[in-house]
Amino acid sequence: MGGRLLRTPALLALAGLVAVAGCTGPDPAPPAPPIAPAPAVSGPAAATPSCDPRASFRPQGALPAPGRMPAGSRMAQIQKNGRLVLGTSQDSLLFSSRNAFTGRVEGFDIDMGRLIAQAIFGDPDKLRIKVIPHEDRTKVFGQPGNDVDLVINTMTANCARWQEVDFSTVYLETGQRLLVGKDSTVDGLDDLGGQGVCAAAGSTSLVNIDKAPADPVPVAKGGWGECLVAFQQNEVAAVSTDDTILAGLAAQDPFAKVVGPRFTEEPYGIAISKEHPDLTRFVNAVLERSRADGTWRSTYDRWLSALGPAPRPPAARYR
Ligand code: GLU
Repeated sequence: MGGRLLRTPALLALAGLVAVAGCTGPDPAPPAPPIAPAPAVSGPAAATPSCDPRASFRPQGALPAPGRMPAGSRMAQIQKNGRLVLGTSQDSLLFSSRNAFTGRVEGFDIDMGRLIAQAIFGDPDKLRIKVIPHEDRTKVFGQPGNDVDLVINTMTANCARWQEVDFSTVYLETGQRLLVGKDSTVDGLDDLGGQGVCAAAGSTSLVNIDKAPADPVPVAKGGWGECLVAFQQNEVAAVSTDDTILAGLAAQDPFAKVVGPRFTEEPYGIAISKEHPDLTRFVNAVLERSRADGTWRSTYDRWLSALGPAPRPPAARYR
């Protein structure tokens, strides 16, 4: 029994949820078996108009006091609802993952949501977390029976998505890299022609794998935890996504490493319904304050110190 195989079903189920250390074997991985090509990867429509995806709506005036949202605003409606509803995933360690000991979903993205709940209610716990599939991140707003107010989920603000949702100003700058086995000499998608590379369905990462000139085979899974399991079972040779997410995967597998330079730019934004630009301006004011008062930095240090010292927070850009 060797390779990166992770054979215990109970651990397989856990791999996406908690940091499971030492669950892989030390022997070199056997070559990945041939895999069936993934279904066609849907990329941004060819006709997507160009835009500055980092530029959002300027805050208007000072932030209202918590608990005193302006009458008629979306924030007043949320206050009346009693909870801010946050759409996210529960298997992105460091960003939004379920802590197996407390049962709570936690991470950098969750703390961004808590900041906004604090600004609306004066209580960061007035947050309801709704786990949504990656593919639904632009579709949850305004659907009957769907009450999501914000999506905060390692989500790149790009022009194709701006067609469907509005984004806040950028709250984290990241870029795509690769996760491979510790002994691998691979350091880019160029080395992975014909081999399976996993990414979440509905992610920009999957589209970027599909576009790579060396023709790696994109393998779509429901989330990053599932990609880690596919990698550990040798179903794929690598996982490729934002290095921020890969840091969370690497922390769960001592026989994996993150390699190569960033080959894309993935600026993260908070997605908000196009029906509620007042909420987007409000969120931008909260982000402004967190950049200025040190909260952004302490949140980075709490969750992302594995990536090195905190950079300067991304500067706000407005349209
Ligand atoms: N940031 C990329 C995206 O929004 C990949 C990460 C993810 O999908 O969670 O598609």
